[in-house]
Amino acid sequence: MTVAPAGARTLAVPGDIPALDRLLNDAVFAALLAAYGRTEVTAALRGALDALRARVVDGGVPIAQAGAPAIAADVAAALDARHRRALRRVFNLSGTVLHTNLGRATLPQAAIDALVDAAAAPVNLEFDLGSGARGDRDRVVEALLCELTGAEAATVVNNNAAAVLLVLAALANRREVIVSRGELVEIGGSFRIPDVMRTAGARLREVGTTNRTHAADYADAIGLRTAALMKVHTSNYVVSGFTASVGAAALAAIAHASGLPLIVDLGSGSLVDLGDFGLPREPVVRDVLAAGADLVTFSGDKLLGGPQAGLVVGRAALVQRIKRHPLKRALRVGKLTLAALEPVLALYRAPERLAARLPTLRALTRAAAAIEAQALRLAPALRDVLGERCEVTVVAMESQIGSGALPTATLASHGFAIRMQRRGGGLDRLDAALRALPRAVVGRIADRTLWLDLRCLDESDEAAFVAQLARLSP
Ligand SMILES: *Cc1c(COP(=O)(O)O)cnc(C)c1O
Repeated sequence: MTVAPAGARTLAVPGDIPALDRLLNDAVFAALLAAYGRTEVTAALRGALDALRARVVDGGVPIAQAGAPAIAADVAAALDARHRRALRRVFNLSGTVLHTNLGRATLPQAAIDALVDAAAAPVNLEFDLGSGARGDRDRVVEALLCELTGAEAATVVNNNAAAVLLVLAALANRREVIVSRGELVEIGGSFRIPDVMRTAGARLREVGTTNRTHAADYADAIGLRTAALMKVHTSNYVVSGFTASVGAAALAAIAHASGLPLIVDLGSGSLVDLGDFGLPREPVVRDVLAAGADLVTFSGDKLLGGPQAGLVVGRAALVQRIKRHPLKRALRVGKLTLAALEPVLALYRAPERLAARLPTLRALTRAAAAIEAQALRLAPALRDVLGERCEVTVVAMESQIGSGALPTATLASHGFAIRMQRRGGGLDRLDAALRALPRAVVGRIADRTLWLDLRCLDESDEAAFVAQLARLSP
């Protein structure tokens, strides 16, 4: 077979494809080699050449596509995709502020700075700079937690699920913990009070009924095997109608009369009264301790607005037992968590500035009118790129707080309702295209409408949001 000279053909033949070694020495590969190194570039190039050869054999590949510049562009795209971080920034326009799947709270600048500092250098994590002796990592935040909650002592673990597990394992192993049937919660499918109880080696003693539990139910259940009474905040549901439950103060009195501790799992909990910020009220950790709870557990990344962590605050003797339990070592947090947590807690010393400084609270307290103004400001850019295909309307909507905090309360918000002009005309594709943007836009589809709630689009992020929209153009 004779191959016509390339000049006389338009389609490539296998002989046109340059050899791998020659390509690696071609100037067009120099930048890629500098960026990714020889191993990565060689592997990607080999893949690109195999794919190209198969396409050329099938026929129909223009000669230019078999040349070094085109191959280099393919390799660059492949390496780019391969080296894209798996964990990346998104725009949370889902309408849920503390979205567990999107990493819950975002951190204030002070916490980000501390996180970067601690990441970049050795830190005095378990080292007392005064004495030069070994220290305790909880000390980084213990004093602050005690100051903010009125507790005698505190400890920190990986998340609130870990906090509950550790408290039960340390205080109630092979003994009973009395819990109301109305509070046997399941959070997000994998955290269920009865399961956590079993895993911790504690026996769940259920009392009362789903809708009504009385003081006498607890008192009657106390026996020789009882280790503690426990109250669980019903974070993600409400029991309403003909109901009765026993408050922390009454429950503490019952527990203490028998020499038992009261454990309260607050779930989110809050260090300040959210009512002061015009938000629906959540139990405040300090109040629950003041009411007599001996230990309170809550999350670092829910309403607190910090990094993922589980906080345990309460009586010194109980916290000591918890810290000494072997599970504490397994569930402890690292320096990055503590670095981020300390400045977040410190912000609570100035509650009057909290709404401006803490991103979670800033998002939760944004006025509907400000969000509406933002939606009106951004609507033209969105309509521009979506063109005739879609109808984009600025509408009122309700945001949720999320993460089980205040399950029935919603916050008046605004955003976009996007509908396709033709019935069944590609709403899922538009949603996928938004998620494929360099910084994915995460909305929510319901009733043949794509809803984009702007509550969590910080005004400082607006320009970045608009800038990438151009890529949506058909
Ligand atoms: C959210 C929640 C938990 C779990 O907390 P994580 O920090 O997600 O582990 C446990 N108990 C209650 C009541 C909760 O609301």
